[in-house]
Amino acid sequence: MQIVESVTAFKQLRSAWNAQHLTVSLVPTMGALHAGHLSLLDRAREADRLVVSIFVNPTQFGPSEDLQRYPRPLNQDLSLLKSRGVDAVFVPSASEIYPEGYRTFVTVEGLSSRLCGVSRPGHFRGVATVVLKLFNIVRPHSAVFGQKDAQQTVILRRMVQDLDLDVELVVQPIVREADGLALSSRNHYLNAEERRAATILFRSLEFGRHASLRGERRADVLLHGVRELIESEPLARLDYAEIVSADDLSPLDEVANQALLVLAVFVGKTRLIDNAFLNQSAIDSSQLE
Ligand code: AMP
Repeated sequence: MQIVESVTAFKQLRSAWNAQHLTVSLVPTMGALHAGHLSLLDRAREADRLVVSIFVNPTQFGPSEDLQRYPRPLNQDLSLLKSRGVDAVFVPSASEIYPEGYRTFVTVEGLSSRLCGVSRPGHFRGVATVVLKLFNIVRPHSAVFGQKDAQQTVILRRMVQDLDLDVELVVQPIVREADGLALSSRNHYLNAEERRAATILFRSLEFGRHASLRGERRADVLLHGVRELIESEPLARLDYAEIVSADDLSPLDEVANQALLVLAVFVGKTRLIDNAFLNQSAIDSSQLE
């Protein structure tokens, strides 16, 4: 497994693979790897060469967010990846990606200002920009992302379509702990009491999904129940709960095919996100750790 820190070195590696007509898949991450990230590798391994990027992207963090505090256990991440058939890990510094004088950003309009974009203005501009840069450096045939960040996948799909990028986007299901909590690097911030309270996200998704499967189609009725449940947890504070179309994030009045219940909830100071398809009859048990 090669560890590549500079853009120039990565481009050389990429040209060598290109000369051999090898297909390449990319899994972009911010490190602090867990089983959710590793599930993305399983899919990416279908290509001839598998690249993981680890980059805590400063432009997707707001001024009062956790950029400095974000966990960076690089040695641990590298040893996790070593035994997993990864060919190269791209670990650029912030000054490699955003050198002095950097001025260009990608905005996927409309989609970026809804849901998480309301409390995290500028977040998706940072995400779209860094993902486009990674695509240009790595030039992957496919890139694998997690359904955990549902809004991110919709925005990136739009970017790929709008900018005629030759990349196939693959989205993998959410990997959860045994009690339903979606794996996230930010779960490290939770103390024991908050960790217990954090199951409120999964419990609320399950409440919504079951009510919908029992025949309740009205989004406002479903959301009322979901919000009440979240408010009943003293350590939780709701950021948003919405039912949207998984295709374009537009709000739905009635549950339809591809209706997604999306949540953002503060547990203590930690903001967690999660989502579920309302018409899915069961959470696949293979997604539970
Ligand atoms: P991050 O390191 O948080 O930027 O995440 C890197 C990729 O891993 C993104 O595509 C995420 O959606 C995905 N991911 C994070 N958590 C999970 C999870 N619990 N299950 C599946 N994919 C995940």
